[in-house]
Amino acid sequence: AAVDGTVGGEEGVAAFLHVSGEAALATARDVDARRAAGEPLHALAGVPVAVKDVVVTRGTPTTAGSRILEGWVPPYDATLVERLRAAGMPVLGKTNMDEFAMGSSTEHSAYGPTRNPWDLTRTPGGSGGGSAAAVAAFEAPLAVGTDTGGSIRQPAAVTGTVGVKPTYGGISRYGLVAMASSLDQAGPCARSVLDAALLHEVMGGHDPRDATSLTDPVGALADAARSRDVHGLRVGVVRELVGEGFSAGVLASFRAALDLLSDAGAEVVEVSCPTFAHALDAYYLIMPSEASSNLARFDGMRFGLRVEPAEGPVTAERVMAATRGAGFGPEVKRRVVLGTYALSAGYYDAYYGSAQKVRTLVQRDFDAAFAQADVLVSPTAPTTAFPLGSRLDDPLAMYAADVATIPANLAGVPGMSLPSGLSDDGLPVGFQLLAPARADERLYRAGGALE
Ligand code: GLN
Repeated sequence: AAVDGTVGGEEGVAAFLHVSGEAALATARDVDARRAAGEPLHALAGVPVAVKDVVVTRGTPTTAGSRILEGWVPPYDATLVERLRAAGMPVLGKTNMDEFAMGSSTEHSAYGPTRNPWDLTRTPGGSGGGSAAAVAAFEAPLAVGTDTGGSIRQPAAVTGTVGVKPTYGGISRYGLVAMASSLDQAGPCARSVLDAALLHEVMGGHDPRDATSLTDPVGALADAARSRDVHGLRVGVVRELVGEGFSAGVLASFRAALDLLSDAGAEVVEVSCPTFAHALDAYYLIMPSEASSNLARFDGMRFGLRVEPAEGPVTAERVMAATRGAGFGPEVKRRVVLGTYALSAGYYDAYYGSAQKVRTLVQRDFDAAFAQADVLVSPTAPTTAFPLGSRLDDPLAMYAADVATIPANLAGVPGMSLPSGLSDDGLPVGFQLLAPARADERLYRAGGALE
């Protein structure tokens, strides 16, 4: 029997916010009938997929983890969802996430946390903890995530799964609930590098409805994953991402994976990216600035929740204030305030302007490093999964989970996290691969060799 409807708040992993069992079964039956009729089908036809709740799905509630979108049912599909459906992939439902993708633990969801299947007292990372946990818990073979500063790769790392942030523009943003438009990128979550490649190929490629969509074809990613050929590949270890702040168990697992790459014929070199030390600071000015502008559309009139002031006149401004006061959680409010402050007259040059300069320097560090190496590597996250509640009162500790993932978003380059075994605490560790823009294929080639 198909499960159908809004879920959440239950014990266990709690990866899903909404399960679309009936619709998924109908797609699976349709695929069966077409296969029986001899119709040629996509390799992933009939393979179910879970979708992060920041991606709009026609006829299925989409909340982005926020009360402000509770009850909103989108009238259209994101381009990437259209492509999943066109390939015959049943959409199982919508996965939990930090509200508007702001967070590193999925605890900022308005609908309760998702728990890490490896240890239910720990977080599955975030913001896409629902998608990663669904895949890790064998509740879905594949899932879709979005990564603005690490929200695909960091959850993949702490759940022992594979997650890929493609080159910026590689998968259409049309139909994503926008957080920080110059950083947001959708991508695949999977249990193997080849599975991730197949899903990436389905979703990727040009979309005229996204002005920043690349015009390049998506490339032969699955072939790259199957080739597993790293002979002569220059692998650059980022010096700034293998030292202070990274746990001993994470670093030991990282070094072991590096040995596997050199045993397979790769040439390991060390590179230095000094401005990566400032990437986190620049991100936490640029990202809230863009989010404060994007979230202006949640005004109590166009989507979802509308709250009228408890007393006094019902003016547009007072409805907006009451709706946002009730509908946004504390982390979202914190970032909107940060962003509007950073963009305000008199502070713009000092904060937003400086952050944009750092962004350019990070891009130059990548250019210099990619002159010395074909791919760059680091641990994906400084620690393994942290306990639920342990960083909720300390935003800076929460933000630090993304220190190794954020540079790729600032530069628009692709990144992958794949499992490199367990740390000394018995929890999974993620190995991060980074490649130059439009060279996503290299991630799959090197990632395939590590499996
Ligand atoms: N954890 C980071 C943040 O809170 C990244 C989020 C993301 O990639 N969506 O902004």
